[in-house]
Order: sequence, then C-alpha cells, then structure tokens
Amino acid sequence: DGVSSRDLEDALYAFGFGLQCSYVKPFGEGHINETYAVYMPTEDGDEFAYILQRVNNNVFKDPAGVMENIFGVTEYLRNVIREEGGDPDRETLSCIKTKTGCTYFEDSEGQPWRCYNYIPNSVCYQLVEEPEQFYQSGNSFGHFLKQLGNYPASSLKETIPDFHNTVKRFGNFQRALHRDIKNRAVTCRGEISFVLEREQDCGVLVQQQEEGILPLRVTHNDTKLNNILFDADTGKGLCIIDLDTIMPGLAANDFGDSIRFGAATAEEDEQNLDLVHFDISLYELYVKGYLEATKDVLTPEEVESLPWGARLMTLECGMRFLTDYLEGDTYFKTAYPEHNLVRARTQFRLVDEMEQQFDRMKEIVKKYCQN
Ligand code: ATP
Ligand code: MG
Ligand code: MG
Repeated sequence: DGVSSRDLEDALYAFGFGLQCSYVKPFGEGHINETYAVYMPTEDGDEFAYILQRVNNNVFKDPAGVMENIFGVTEYLRNVIREEGGDPDRETLSCIKTKTGCTYFEDSEGQPWRCYNYIPNSVCYQLVEEPEQFYQSGNSFGHFLKQLGNYPASSLKETIPDFHNTVKRFGNFQRALHRDIKNRAVTCRGEISFVLEREQDCGVLVQQQEEGILPLRVTHNDTKLNNILFDADTGKGLCIIDLDTIMPGLAANDFGDSIRFGAATAEEDEQNLDLVHFDISLYELYVKGYLEATKDVLTPEEVESLPWGARLMTLECGMRFLTDYLEGDTYFKTAYPEHNLVRARTQFRLVDEMEQQFDRMKEIVKKYCQN
C-alpha cells in the first residue's frame, strides 16, 4: 500500500506546498499512517517544516470524524497552553487546513491526507532507555488529561466504537471460542480458562462508567512512549502526538495501557515466559509522574480505578490476542501460527503478577495522592 508520487504531489498541492517546497522525505517510525516531513524555505533564508500524513483508512473508517476530534482538541489546547504561559506552537500539534478550507484532503484513491505543524527541537524515543523517561511519560499523559479536564468529552466522536468496552470484548471472545473455526481451542485450554475465570473482572470499570461513578474523559487511547515528543534541550515531555484515537473514555484506560506495555520486562511477543514480568518499580515511577499532574483533577473514584485499569487493559489485550488466535489471525499481523497465542500468554502472565501484587499497586497510588 505504497504512496504513489502523484498522490503525494496532489496532497502537497492541496495544502499549498506547491513549487516553493524545498524537499519532502518520509519521516518517523509510525506503523499506522504514512508520515512525511515537508521543508519550506522562509523569507529570512531558514527552513520551516510541516508534517504531512496519509491517514490509514483501513483503521480509521471515519476520517472526517477523526479530524473533527483532532481539530476540536488541538484548538482548545492552544488556548489552555497560552493561559499556562506555554508555547502553543511547540506544546501541541496544530492542524493546517487545505487551501479550500477542509480538515483533510482526499486523494485520487479516496485516501485522506492531513497536515500538522512540525514540532521543532524535539526528540521521539521508541523504547524506554532511562526509567526517568517513563516517569516523564506518566507526567506528560497526566498533564494532557488535566489540560483537557474541562473539554466536553461527550462531544467527541467515538471513531472506533466500543474500543475499550471490556465486556463486549469478552463477548467477542466467547463467540470465537464457541465457533472455534480453526479447531485451535484444544491447543489453548489453559489460556481459555484464564479468561473465563475473569468474566466478572471485565465488568468492573464498564459498570462504574455506566452508573456514572466514573466520568468520561478525553482519552488518547495510544499512550505509548513514542507518541510523546520530548524537548531536545531539557529532556522533559513536550508534546503529545498521534491524536487519531482521541475519544471519550476512562482515565484508567489510558493509564492502564501505558502500564501494560511500559512496565513489562519483555516484548509483547516474548516466547520465554520466564523473561516476562510486571515491574512494579516502573509502575511506581509512572504513577508518580501521572499523579503529580492529575491528583487535583481526578475524582477519588478515578484514582482508585487506576490499578484496575492496568489489570483490565492487560487482560483485555490478552483476550483480544486469544480471540484473534481462535478466529485464525484475521486482525493482528502474525509472523507464525502461534504468534497471537504467544502474545496472549505474555499478557496473562502480566495480569497474574498484577493480581498477586494488587494491594501493593493500590498502596502506591495512595502514596502519591497525598499532598
Ligand atoms: P503509530 O504507529 O504510533 O500509530 P502513526 O503511524 O500513527 O504511529 P505518528 O505517531 O502520528 O504516526 O507519527 C509518526 C512519527 O512521526 C512520530 O513517532 C514522530 O517521531 C514523528 N512526528 C509525528 N508528528 C510530528 C510533529 N508534528 N512534529 C515532529 N515529529 C512528528
Ligand atoms: Mg505514533
Ligand atoms: Mg498512531
């Protein structure tokens, strides 16, 4: 699904980067969209860059909804950052409209393109190199939640419906198990029981949200380290990027997903389970950064929901891998037949360790809530 040079040229033209543009190059290490940096000369002989992206419309079926969410949130953030005395050109993405005033451009194949300001003097890390970065990550995603604390979350489009509806995900798992179209259930009885034994858990957060105990927040839904740009000079978290999956959701979901992959000691598809552990000291670092930014805005119920978020995002993710394994690997890309099962196992190992240390996880959250 490469990008044709004609579509790239059309997109450049649509955003007004015709003949003046100095050069364009593929940029970053994203897996979902096609990202380019566009360099434009300025009058004083400098260069100014933009990010041009072809949005993956296999994943995002409603690009207009996605862009509406992103425009709403980023324009709001610019004002918040101004009030904080920050620099809105570096601390948030800003979207640029097409020459005809649209939020995105549709190329000859019907694929959507959008354009952002380039965040100067920033760095992006693929992996946590220093534990300090994980603290920064918690602090940045926490700050993002706080900045959007008064944004009307329910006005956001749910561009991927039921994304973290763990109860529905459990239902999908049960259906896949019942059909068992690849006859794989016999190869993963232990993993199946692991999920079935946790049916009640799946409802813990969904129920609290439905009962109004947990509020809907603006959630990012892809809270990975490489979706934060760090300030190249100070090393501090600077700007949250990759806003495609901004939706109404629970604080605990964003928090939990960060913990799921960031506090694990091995890759998601590590085959040797002896290497897979939940690192509670990394969890503590993230909690510290996150609560420093959010303890004044989260409700007591939300604070209490955070350890559950870690457990349930990890369970949900493992359940999705196991569902895909049972369905014959139709959703996640796999490199070998058991790949999804291997992934499910790492997630269940993490869930198991989180359950064993759950009291400690709750104590840590309490500790960083005190003023
Ligand atoms: P993912 O695989 O995380 O879903 P993606 O394909 O959605 O990624 P982005 O995360 O939006 O793509 O962008 C890919 C990379 O491009 C980022 O990780 C970052 O390094 C760089 N990048 C994106 N936007 C900007 C920006 N405005 N300024 C500077 N760098 C950026
Ligand atoms: Mg990204
Ligand atoms: Mg993305």
